Amino acid sequence: MVRHILFFIGPPASGKGTQAELVSKYYGWPAISSGDLLRRSADLPQKYQEAIQAGHLVDDGVINDLLQRRLTQADTKLGFILDGYPRNSSQFAYAYNYIITPQDRVCALEIRVSDEEVYRRLEGRRFCPHCGAGYHLIYKPSKREGFCDVCSSKLVRRPDDKPEVIAERLKIYHDTMEPLLALWQKRGELEVINGEQDIPAVHQDIIAVLTRRGYVLPH
Ligand code: AMP
Repeated sequence: MVRHILFFIGPPASGKGTQAELVSKYYGWPAISSGDLLRRSADLPQKYQEAIQAGHLVDDGVINDLLQRRLTQADTKLGFILDGYPRNSSQFAYAYNYIITPQDRVCALEIRVSDEEVYRRLEGRRFCPHCGAGYHLIYKPSKREGFCDVCSSKLVRRPDDKPEVIAERLKIYHDTMEPLLALWQKRGELEVINGEQDIPAVHQDIIAVLTRRGYVLPH
């Protein structure tokens, strides 16, 4: 049986998590976020919890094992979507040596968004430290500027959305992912999607590309 495997790749604020969830609903395959796997892992040693909080990658062996365990679950039998994995060339090699088989149908979807747009999206992001509601100065403004619609608390910026931190996150993204994108391209498995459109338009482009590649709805 053909197993359908999708990799979602994109910089911070590209919307790849949202798109992975939409594609998951469309095809019925689970979207597996490596960050979520780590955050939900009950017995994760303290040093890895600290690495996650600092934005550093955890050791490859840890995430490879967590992922392998997740992939033994029955819901992945027909296909699955990976968001946040692989993050470096050794994880890429692991995926092709130990996860993917020659029978699988594989596609890597790069949700492409320019650095300028990433800044615009992240710089405008605000959230309510009291109730957690999220806003955006341009795309989703609160009714009273600077204050939460739900509980009227003063809105703040996430520490990792500050310009100097955004620059660092973008640099890490380009340095680590560009070599992997080149590998997918060489394998003929890469599709580039214009991420600078609204959410339904990006979703439509993804479904069009996947349909062309023979990803059909399971009966
Ligand atoms: P994310 O939710 O994808 O932004 O991931 C949150 C954090 O989890 C990252 O900053 C890393 O510390 C860790 N993480 C997620 N995916 C991986 C991975 N594939 N390899 C190593 N660490 C990861």
